[in-house]
Amino acid sequence: MNDDPLRSDSSAKDSAGTTHFGFTQVREDEKARQVAGVFHSVARKYDVMNDVMSAGLHRWWKAFTIRQANVRPGMKVLDIAGGTGDLALRFARQAGAAGEVWLTDINASMLTEGRNRMLDAGVLLPVALCDGEKLPFNDNRFDVVTVAFGLRNMTHKDKALAEMRRVTRPGGKVMVLEFSRVWAPLAPLYDAYSFNVLPWLGKRIAGDDDSYRYLAESIRMHPAQDELARLMEQAGLDKVQWFNLTAGVCALHVGHKY
Ligand code: SAM
Repeated sequence: MNDDPLRSDSSAKDSAGTTHFGFTQVREDEKARQVAGVFHSVARKYDVMNDVMSAGLHRWWKAFTIRQANVRPGMKVLDIAGGTGDLALRFARQAGAAGEVWLTDINASMLTEGRNRMLDAGVLLPVALCDGEKLPFNDNRFDVVTVAFGLRNMTHKDKALAEMRRVTRPGGKVMVLEFSRVWAPLAPLYDAYSFNVLPWLGKRIAGDDDSYRYLAESIRMHPAQDELARLMEQAGLDKVQWFNLTAGVCALHVGHKY
């Protein structure tokens, strides 16, 4: 058995078509650059903004995800687009010294915040700067693979999901926590909040309204619950189910690899 977690070659060529960055159509390579700009800009204020704009709800959504992940001592867990490390920190405590939990992200500013937070919490874990669409890990390595509020920012969600499945061991699971389609009667209120209050908060707290306008737009462009479930199945995941959280503001999708 090869126990080296890093894959020797994870390169893949993309054809440069166009895609959406929020409501704007951009070249695919431009999207990655713009997403990077968003997270470089907000990294320092990312955690406080999460608490303020969700009124603390993101903690509950993540706690639910952590419960569903059911990480036990000795398990191997990969958190993709892990940012400041909310999930990885909890998983590392659950997996313990015998386990292995990776905090990964494509953005150095977010990962630096995350790594500092781990150090402050006295948690040592491996950290990797990598693209969720081209994971530098061997096949069948992890018991649990998670991505929270990250898939929406990725250009090729099909590739990212296929990569998540690839690095999951048979019997393991892939979990996607993401903003989703809110219960229709709440949509007008939710839209008013997203397109007015979020950029306003972004401006005052993080000095950046554009990034929070992008957040609101990118949520609308992300696949709804059933579409994402279909994408996960197309990526080869089985028994895909989802849990709506806070009337569908968020959804946790779980798929299995057999
Ligand atoms: N998972 C963390 C959480 O729940 O608080 C951070 C989520 S943050 C909204 C989205 C993260 O996705 C950012 O840290 C960003 O750098 C990362 N990201 C965007 N595109 C990515 C990609 N292609 N591969 C890996 N990470 C990516």
